[in-house]
Amino acid sequence: DNGLSEADPEVCGIIEKEKERQFKSLELIASENFTYRAVMEAVGSCLTNKYSEGLPGKRYYGGNEHIDELETLCQKRALDAFHLDGKKWGVNVQPLSGSPANFEVYTAVLKPHDRLMGLDLSHGGHLSHGFMTPKRRVSGTSIYFESMSYRLNESTGLVDYDKLEEMADRFKPKLIIAGASAYPRDFDYPRMRKIADAVGAFLMMDMAHISGLVAASVLANPFDYCDIVTTTTHKSLRGPRGGMIFFKKDTVLGVDLESAINNAVFPGLQGGPHNHTIGGLAVCLKYAQSPEFKAYQNKVVSNCRALASRLTELGYKLVSGGSDNHLVLVDLRPLGIDGARVEKILDMASITLNKNSVPGDKSAVVPGGIRIGSPAMTTRGFTEKEFIAVADYIHEGVQITIDAKRAVSGSKLQDFMRFVASPEFSLKDRVSD
Ligand code: PLP
Repeated sequence: DNGLSEADPEVCGIIEKEKERQFKSLELIASENFTYRAVMEAVGSCLTNKYSEGLPGKRYYGGNEHIDELETLCQKRALDAFHLDGKKWGVNVQPLSGSPANFEVYTAVLKPHDRLMGLDLSHGGHLSHGFMTPKRRVSGTSIYFESMSYRLNESTGLVDYDKLEEMADRFKPKLIIAGASAYPRDFDYPRMRKIADAVGAFLMMDMAHISGLVAASVLANPFDYCDIVTTTTHKSLRGPRGGMIFFKKDTVLGVDLESAINNAVFPGLQGGPHNHTIGGLAVCLKYAQSPEFKAYQNKVVSNCRALASRLTELGYKLVSGGSDNHLVLVDLRPLGIDGARVEKILDMASITLNKNSVPGDKSAVVPGGIRIGSPAMTTRGFTEKEFIAVADYIHEGVQITIDAKRAVSGSKLQDFMRFVASPEFSLKDRVSD
């Protein structure tokens, strides 16, 4: 059997180009990271060959003795990484990614067209929390369930819990979802628990973006207040691309969460688990219990704060005025420009971030802001000093966008990109193969 370069030079060439792009660019997308070399090895292993529908000890195929050992180890590490007592909490490590994990929870605890509430997409929520426009139900969550979004207070940039309480009282959801894709602050879980209890709703946290920060106890612990916690595994947690669902081992509102969630994953919505991903996830969850991981997550936050305060010094308006986590959301509207144009200009200089809606945007098509995250470049060794420089480069990109006549060439930004591409750039060894 040939290796990739011989078997398929075309795909091999594309991978090489992507590796080069990842190496040479400043990766500031808040949902991305560089996983560990050991995780990549597990993901690229023979584990991909095996079918293992079912759970450890209860499979529909033979030959699963090693897969059972692996999945049991992964479950144990997942509970340990989030400091959970295995008598009170269980976990399913088979969800293929974050959106499937969320949908699996909905089908486990709701009936079709039951009601749920999540944070509005244009205010930082995720599509899978129930996005719909006045004309169209967009995500499966709002097609198969009835969703009503709660929002931020536009003047503070914080979740408007008073309004959520009022809306929940009228809408009577069966599920309230905490968690976001573009929210620079932490969630008030005690308050959300109270709101959910008052209307008899389940409380779920989708900690996809912040699961690394939660594991390192850098942010508040959602497990103290929620019935169910979902996550992706490839963002701040630094694992392979996948998902997990944590559930209380209890009957909540008449639903035995363990069996409902396990059955929703398989046979409800999935078939064979991706065992190579579960292998990579187990490795990542081992790292997640190390002192180095905790130090890394602390740096993710301090780097993000340094970025936020430099941007503020430069006169930028940040949604909520700053950040407590791994991302900042910059409102560009006071400068008369939009996020799409700035994203494009910065992309040309190999600075990768994304346009993002900001509260008060008239249209989601031309979002008024950009989202900037610190996890990936912190993995590559950036400190506060480099993040301050990053803020300056972004500022330069914004100025270029404002003054479209100004040429990119000859700028400090371009000099920096030449330096990153040069052999002297000391972070080379930090990029995974
Ligand atoms: N939940 C949140 C909060 C997210 O930000 C994302 C993705 O960015 C997801 C779920 C979906 O994850 P996936 O893209 O793995 O389906």
